Amino acid sequence: MNVCDLAPSYIRAIAPYQPGKPISELAREMGLDEAGIIKLASNENPLGVSPLAQRAIRSVLDGLARYPDGNGFELKQALSRRYGVAPENIVLGNGSNDVLEIAARAFLTPQASAVYSQHAFVVYPLAVQAMGARGIEVPAKNFGHDLDAMLRAVGPDTRLVFVANPNNPTGTMAPSSELEAFVAALPEHVLLVLDEAYNEYLAPELVADSVGWLNKFHNLLIIRTFSKVYGLAGLRVGYAFGTPGVADLMNRVRQPFNVNSVSLAAAAAALDDTDFVRQSFELNRTGMAQITAGLQRLGIEYIPSYGNFVSFKVKDARGVYHKLLKAGVIVRPIASYGMPDYLRVSIGLESENAKFLACLRQALT
Ligand code: PMP
Repeated sequence: MNVCDLAPSYIRAIAPYQPGKPISELAREMGLDEAGIIKLASNENPLGVSPLAQRAIRSVLDGLARYPDGNGFELKQALSRRYGVAPENIVLGNGSNDVLEIAARAFLTPQASAVYSQHAFVVYPLAVQAMGARGIEVPAKNFGHDLDAMLRAVGPDTRLVFVANPNNPTGTMAPSSELEAFVAALPEHVLLVLDEAYNEYLAPELVADSVGWLNKFHNLLIIRTFSKVYGLAGLRVGYAFGTPGVADLMNRVRQPFNVNSVSLAAAAAALDDTDFVRQSFELNRTGMAQITAGLQRLGIEYIPSYGNFVSFKVKDARGVYHKLLKAGVIVRPIASYGMPDYLRVSIGLESENAKFLACLRQALT
């Protein structure tokens, strides 16, 4: 028996996360020029890094011999000013992925369970499994979360319930009133992990006052990211808002310096770059209209999406994915989400969306 055989069975059973294919990898594999490849596979911001964040990044380079501020004082202050949440309610992470894992580490044991939806963001089952806890997957309703069924699935050993709103990869969302009723109905011993990674892409009238709910509900943890509308996916910054008690427990199990100095500075600056956020929102709105109109023209069924991506149904998803790769277009197969007949495309620049639609049309013939 070697040490790998002796690793816990729940670790050995983990199916690793499958990221979108990097541009450099496709260029290597197919002998393509990187400049000609478009990547619409990881829900990144096609406008790149905000100018204010770029400036902040340059300004911290000279100080990189020092450890970062492990408490992220400036970024917490910036978040606090923006959302009216005190710094002791905030947990920072190396991407929101880190924050999700920290929540799992703080609250799950092999004796506990966690509830999430079918077709929900795949990091939830991964984080639960890494703790040896029991994952309870609740069947989706029209690709969205069935909140009533999720409530019924909660048991005495349940500690976390994950809800992605909007959800990736389905793009579905629950109305604010239903979500609020859901958290109100959850028993005290269960923490709702409300993942709002795509919150900033919602039309203003659809945005839930989830931050305001923190004043009423003690078992709510809101998770957000700088990877999407703020354009900092490569720097890895995410955060959570919860009660001081929840945040304190989470801060005990995170790495002491889990967000690096460059990322801390860039995120604080990006938060204040309202012009960039507005442009990103607008580009996504028009790009979503462009792509969904194109899919309709091709007679392709898609799931209406509230995020910066849309999942669509094709006969031979694997085959179409590979044909698109050959044409230099990277989208995301989502078979691992229980959706083998679907591909997910992120909204890009107008020219990228047009190229994707043209290549898709070719790939379908
Ligand atoms: N939550 C959801 C719903 C996501 O789609 C993603 C990114 N794919 C994340 C969290 C994690 O993003 P990050 O770690 O870059 O913040």
